[in-house]
Amino acid sequence: MMSKLNNKELDQKIKSLARAENKLLAIVIEHISEADRRKLYLDYNYANLYDYLVKECGYPGGSAQRRIDAARLLAVEPKLTTKIESGEINLSQTTLLQKAFREKSQTTKVTPDQKRSLIAKISDKTVNESQILIAKELDLKIKVNTKVIHQKDGSVRFEATLTKEQWESFQKAKDLASNATQSNDLPTLIKYLSDKFIKQKEGPTATVAVKKQVLQRDQCCQHKDPYTQRLCGSRWNLHIDHIKPKWAGGSDDIENLRVLCQKHNHCIYRQQAGIKTYTLSPVPPI
Ligand SMILES: [Zn+2]
Repeated sequence: MMSKLNNKELDQKIKSLARAENKLLAIVIEHISEADRRKLYLDYNYANLYDYLVKECGYPGGSAQRRIDAARLLAVEPKLTTKIESGEINLSQTTLLQKAFREKSQTTKVTPDQKRSLIAKISDKTVNESQILIAKELDLKIKVNTKVIHQKDGSVRFEATLTKEQWESFQKAKDLASNATQSNDLPTLIKYLSDKFIKQKEGPTATVAVKKQVLQRDQCCQHKDPYTQRLCGSRWNLHIDHIKPKWAGGSDDIENLRVLCQKHNHCIYRQQAGIKTYTLSPVPPI
């Protein structure tokens, strides 16, 4: 039956189903809003509406939360049902709104009028446009915390907030680099830009022959604990390090090179670069 439809019929069918889906969603939100008002969940021995929707009605957690967010907005703006039905407002937008209201209400009260006015403003806007409008209207602080999560395979997830100017400058770098990287992938770009910068700062590295000599001379990590003078001596994952860094005018001569394990190499690099999140031991005199 479905395979018998021609493309035009299939297109129309999907559109009419999408309309029906929005209509059904609006009805669901109305009912959840009523259940919230009655605290229906108490009758079923749940502490809150969320638990009731997830455990009793089978909604996945995220879907339940989005429906609750919309239902609570409906209590403020009865026109929301029509807007959801017509597709003027979707659940991503109502959730954005509720999150913003929760954040704002920690410092200032958000009035029902303000809420209604914002619902009107973001109607028919994209999620991105809504996000900007909401932040401007409520004068929300920009989150600048950078989140870094080290994962068990050694990879790292991070989340950062850039200002408009930082983002634009990053986009420009991305456009310029995309020819060389043949990719729009963010991690590829970060690696490309970092490598370029490091090479520019550090210059060409010592020759293979010189590195070999240093390895033969040192044989193991030469880092000395500044207090006990104990040599690290690790033979695992060795790197050649410039005692006086290249960017400080250090040479590639064998006397300015030493072997360090990865841990000490990284640690000393961070100290020299002035990154003070952790310190293992002071920088040895350069
Ligand atoms: Zn070491």
